[in-house]
Amino acid sequence: MKITNHKLAAEAKDFDISFEKTPNVSGEFKDGFPNTIILHYTAGASLESSVVWLKNPKAKASAHLVVCKTGKIVQLAPFNIRTWHAGKSEWKGRKRLNNSSIGIEIDNAGLLEKRVDGYYTNFGKKVADKDIVLAKHKHQEEVKAWEAFTPEQVAAVEMICFVLMQQYNIKEILGHEDISPRRKIDPGPAFPLQNFREKILFGRGDDEVGEKLVAEGKIGVVTADLLNIRTNPTLDAAKAGEPLGKGTKVIVEKTVGEWSFVKVELAGWVSNKWIKKF
Ligand SMILES: [Zn+2]
Repeated sequence: MKITNHKLAAEAKDFDISFEKTPNVSGEFKDGFPNTIILHYTAGASLESSVVWLKNPKAKASAHLVVCKTGKIVQLAPFNIRTWHAGKSEWKGRKRLNNSSIGIEIDNAGLLEKRVDGYYTNFGKKVADKDIVLAKHKHQEEVKAWEAFTPEQVAAVEMICFVLMQQYNIKEILGHEDISPRRKIDPGPAFPLQNFREKILFGRGDDEVGEKLVAEGKIGVVTADLLNIRTNPTLDAAKAGEPLGKGTKVIVEKTVGEWSFVKVELAGWVSNKWIKKF
């Protein structure tokens, strides 16, 4: 996946991406923006119904992207244009987050309703047990039932955030619930937002060693589709193993000229050009 002219494009058919234009937009972002990604769930019945709604002028709502349960992605506006997904919102003294953020809607029913024979969506569909997550929302007291996100959706959103971070000045990944806490509960506790944010923004798990390495600027991530790893810092040196794929997290042990010595499960030399440090 890559971004061309502010639009997502698949690479080697890695993701199914299409573009449908919504009229529900404002003008371009001002300089320095977007700098935030806001995640939502649609609470809708399907990708198609959500896309139809977000293209309808009566909705007075939109987003840049909608991500289907299969991982299929529909883009509704280019990333240099402001969409209407955040509504009344505030984060760290900054208001009206539509002016500074990219909105990603994830096809998911959200909070479920308990009935005598099980859990139902707000559009009246019974949800299979395997698709239910029982969890407490961070702004609520009691455990409730939520529709699970699919691994394909989480993987697609992760790759989207990764390519957005490479292209734009993204500093934060937040939920709608974070910027409109009294009004909104999406994407809710079924979405692994905390892990996700740390993995994407800081390239780390939640271990102390990882945090220390991030603080020291030693964690990098591969930005080339495939990056050769070599036994010496020269182009004709033997390969240390299979090339590293895009998004592979590496520990940068040392840098000499154009080359960095990195550790993955393998260790060897790669070109600096293809390593982004956090
Ligand atoms: Zn939302």
